[in-house]
Amino acid sequence: MSLNLPTLLNQESHRGFKKKIECLKNPESQTTSSLQDNPLQNLQIASHEVLEKAQKSGRSKCPKCGSSRMFYCYSCYVPVETVPTKQIPVLKLPLKIDIIKHPNETDGKSTAVHAKLLAPEDVMIYTYPCIPEYEEKRHEIVLIFPGPNSISLKDLDLHLQRNTKKNVCAEDDDSTAEPFLKQARIESEQQNINECKANKTEDTGLKKIIFIDSTWNQTNKIITDERLQGLLQIELKTRKTCFWRHQKGKPDTYLSTIEAIYYFLVDYHQEVLKKKYKGQYDNLLFFFSFMYTLIKNAKSSTGKE
Ligand SMILES: [Zn+2]
Repeated sequence: MSLNLPTLLNQESHRGFKKKIECLKNPESQTTSSLQDNPLQNLQIASHEVLEKAQKSGRSKCPKCGSSRMFYCYSCYVPVETVPTKQIPVLKLPLKIDIIKHPNETDGKSTAVHAKLLAPEDVMIYTYPCIPEYEEKRHEIVLIFPGPNSISLKDLDLHLQRNTKKNVCAEDDDSTAEPFLKQARIESEQQNINECKANKTEDTGLKKIIFIDSTWNQTNKIITDERLQGLLQIELKTRKTCFWRHQKGKPDTYLSTIEAIYYFLVDYHQEVLKKKYKGQYDNLLFFFSFMYTLIKNAKSSTGKE
């Protein structure tokens, strides 16, 4: 156990860890006290056996660049040789995800890589300032970032329903209506939305979400970049982080990137796609939950808890 932990922990302080043990506990659905031991245990996550084995054998080689790494290579976004790709879960996500990484963000500490490893087809990681132009596809993209102009996922649902209605139910619209009637029509659209819901498919018109992977102090440069202006901004529901590298002095509602992606998708599934959530995206926390448990156990065994 002690063999690789110093690397994994990056010699970070464990202060405040105990407080976080209850962080993933959802008061609405989980009430058992056993969750205090491991709040991640009710998630539907694939067997960690492969990671347990890899952890015992220590660092291994990245099949692409040859660097010695633990579990995965954070530069090449692939698992190391002792972690066969076939033994880690692969997820298909309902949306494409772009992650914009601050160049000063230490790669080895970022959880953004977890998303790329677990959903390689749907996730792209860009290092700022090398980011795509979003201008032409702006209506299909939202940026996940809290701010004065950001809206909630519930509001996003309404926004998308209006767009969907315009497309799906276009034949019902009075095409001769004058532009100044537009506002009144938008207000009355809400009544028609239910009629349109029968036609609603998974195609909400939303195709991509953008996350910023950076310490909170470094985000300003990215968020003010002109290429990200005019994008709809979404603020996540308040949740507490479980991240062991939680930034000192910041509220525990500041999530790690993989937690933010996970929670966004869970909420999107329920509030926008209107489907029952059955753990479909839990495996996004495959590496996160393993490391969480490892650190928690190490902490208990050294009696620092
Ligand atoms: Zn590599």
